[in-house]
Amino acid sequence: MRRLTIRTKAILWYTTLILLLTGLLLVLTVAIGRTFLHHSLYERVKEFVEENIEGLQYEDGRYIIDESYIDRENGMCCLAYDGDGTLLAGKLPTNISLGYDFVDGQFLEFYARQRTYYLYDRQVMFEGGGVIRLRGLIYDRESSYVIASCIRAVLLILPFVVLLSVLGGQILLKHAFRPLEEAIRTANEISAGEDLSKRIPVGSERDEIAALARTFNNMLERLEQNFELEKQYISNVSHELRTPVTVILSQCEVALESKTITEEERQVLGRIDRQARKISESIAQFLMFGRLERGMEKLELEPVDFSALVRHVCQDYRLLPDVVPKIEESVQDEIYLPLNREMMTRLVGNLLDNACKYGRDGGKVCVSMGRKDGFIVLTVTDFGIGIEPQEQEKIWHRFYQAPEAKGMAGSRGIGLGLYMVYEIAKLHSGEISVESTSGCGSTFTLKLKDDSF
Ligand code: ADP
Repeated sequence: MRRLTIRTKAILWYTTLILLLTGLLLVLTVAIGRTFLHHSLYERVKEFVEENIEGLQYEDGRYIIDESYIDRENGMCCLAYDGDGTLLAGKLPTNISLGYDFVDGQFLEFYARQRTYYLYDRQVMFEGGGVIRLRGLIYDRESSYVIASCIRAVLLILPFVVLLSVLGGQILLKHAFRPLEEAIRTANEISAGEDLSKRIPVGSERDEIAALARTFNNMLERLEQNFELEKQYISNVSHELRTPVTVILSQCEVALESKTITEEERQVLGRIDRQARKISESIAQFLMFGRLERGMEKLELEPVDFSALVRHVCQDYRLLPDVVPKIEESVQDEIYLPLNREMMTRLVGNLLDNACKYGRDGGKVCVSMGRKDGFIVLTVTDFGIGIEPQEQEKIWHRFYQAPEAKGMAGSRGIGLGLYMVYEIAKLHSGEISVESTSGCGSTFTLKLKDDSF
């Protein structure tokens, strides 16, 4: 029952219930029918026997049975015995023997020759000492027939009842569950697209499902407001920090160019400069994150020499003082694509940055790009710590950092890089994926439609 939907379960439950109720009804009908029929048979045989009393007389020690005495009628027979048990009138139905003691007023049911018989005894006492014992017999022609017909009718109707109940239930439940299905669809759409502005359509219904949908919508409303506040906050803080960091960087540059500073001062200034660059990089990430989050503002595409862009980013990384791995590139020439230059530069930069951060010290990072099967395929490969299989889904989520990466000395990320890579790839109708083996390295692959011009 675990994998069944609530709708199917409900249909199964009430169909079973209908079957049980029908069975119960059948048993009750049979029981009540039998009781009524017994009663009516009893009344009939009794009446028949009582009527026959009028045809009996006892005169001068002799029993006289006149013409009004009827020994057979309509499935009934009446036998008259004297006090010693000698049959005076009437005849037993063929092949039936009656071994029952005579008891005045008894009504008895017995089964013989595949029929149910009912017996009624009546003793008549005459003045002068005469005794006649009347025994009425009736066989049940109707009750078994009626009951059998009843059962047959119910068994005939039952499949239709079950079919109707299943079909009717399907229609009713489908209608009743429609708002719930709508709610699930919307919730899935929200979670797939992470679009918190979507709401579950709620009509004027006042039932439990509508109440659930309203509660869900209220929750979404609050979540959306909180996310908005968070985005606004990140954006404001980033803007506030940008100017002081730019000032620190430019002052460092000026100071480092001075010929009068000592070697020790140069080292201190160099450290300040490196840390300020990291802060500046994080601010740039936050600002880009804000832009991506603000409904992916209209993407402005321009014809870009993608080959040159990739080479420039690699070159920039080679020039960074603290980049340890060797960057090897194999980039096909003259790939021109409609791209957003700033975003694509960030995408390639983030991949390269991660490859250098999580690559092997003194190892190498390979960047390749070329045309393949109607796509432009860019790969960035490192031979570093790799990513555990269970982490590979999560690395695209914002602010996610794998435990190994968090603990790495010198890790300077904030968990936004790959989220942005993913979003930028999506904005360019591209696909990004990773293949990685823990401890051996990773290859990130970007696939863009080959719209080269
Ligand atoms: P971070 O700023 O922490 O690098 P990212 O969003 O760029 O954030 O990456 C998210 C996580 O994915 C990282 O914390 C790291 O665990 C993992 N990761 C990304 N790139 C690599 C890589 N080349 N090798 C191993 N792990 C990586």
